[in-house]
Amino acid sequence: MFKRRETRVVKIGNVFVGSGHPVSIQSMLKTDTLDVASAVSKINRLADSGCEIVRVAVKDAAAAEAISSIKSGIGIPLVADIHFDHKLAVLAARSGADKIRINPGNINGPDDVARVIDECGSRGIPIRIGVNSGSIAQDAAGASVADMMVDSTLRYLEFFRKKKFNDIVISLKASEVTDTVEAYRNISVQCDYPLHLGVTAAGSMSTGMVKSAMGIGALLIDGIGDTIRVSLTGGPGDEIEAAKKILSASGTRFFGPEVISCPACGRCGVDLAYFAGRIEEELEKVCPAGTAFSRRFTVAVMGCEVNGPGEAGNADVGIAFGKNKGAIFRRGEIVRTVSAGEATDVLMDMIRKDLAR
Ligand code: SF4
Repeated sequence: MFKRRETRVVKIGNVFVGSGHPVSIQSMLKTDTLDVASAVSKINRLADSGCEIVRVAVKDAAAAEAISSIKSGIGIPLVADIHFDHKLAVLAARSGADKIRINPGNINGPDDVARVIDECGSRGIPIRIGVNSGSIAQDAAGASVADMMVDSTLRYLEFFRKKKFNDIVISLKASEVTDTVEAYRNISVQCDYPLHLGVTAAGSMSTGMVKSAMGIGALLIDGIGDTIRVSLTGGPGDEIEAAKKILSASGTRFFGPEVISCPACGRCGVDLAYFAGRIEEELEKVCPAGTAFSRRFTVAVMGCEVNGPGEAGNADVGIAFGKNKGAIFRRGEIVRTVSAGEATDVLMDMIRKDLAR
């Protein structure tokens, strides 16, 4: 198990981010912040699916003022996402935002950034310094994207520290996975502020999932990262599902049983995709999405008895199919042989009993 980097702890509403606290899952509303009823309903659905911090776009004063109404209908921290106009950040802080996200590089000069810092400092509201590759590309020539993001971030940090403001979360998101990973690895050894991980503009479900899993996953395995947001062109619910899968696969946090299934080959005597799908459906009924587990619990669905129990020897329970039958095993030991027709029911019965222990 990797060791997580030591960081300061920042309190965002009722969620702590940093050392000693779980890596939290974030998402962002994709609809107009001014539609308060819709925002509240969407945020509550996201929270039910496992979102722990949510961000909304604040593009004008009315959106900043809508924050107080939205907050009264939700139970998770609300982050105001501000670009260009520091006055919107000040308004959002006054309206009750639990965190302000700004990119100091697109706020009009240090005096305006200082006004945001002063407002948040007086209210105990943390600020995310959110640097994106797109906004720094023209800042310097010759340096790598990662180096430019890190240099910008260090300059902003120096300014914040001079203002004695340390209630900071940092993100350095690039659309290229390699730039993202390099930037976070670099900044992680230069400061101890908690890091919000993400690959920006990662793409739609399949491309975005792969890029996010590579970028966020690599960093989590390095022990880097305190909160994550998977950015997908799609529904925010997809982002939560993807975030959970990344956290589980990296061994960071676990959400319900994990199905390990082999790709199947010529030795397989059943429709393995059908069985793996059915078992995933049944597991979803036992442990709906969002069910937090304190440890990894694996269910192996393997296509043959030759390699099944061996290849999935660490699985908690599993089945290795033969021709129209299956050997059910627990932690590498075969405990029972069943027909293919009864396999799912018997396996699920065993899983329920195991989970109830
Ligand atoms: S477990 Fe058996 S069926 Fe599945 S890929 Fe391996 S050898 Fe093929």
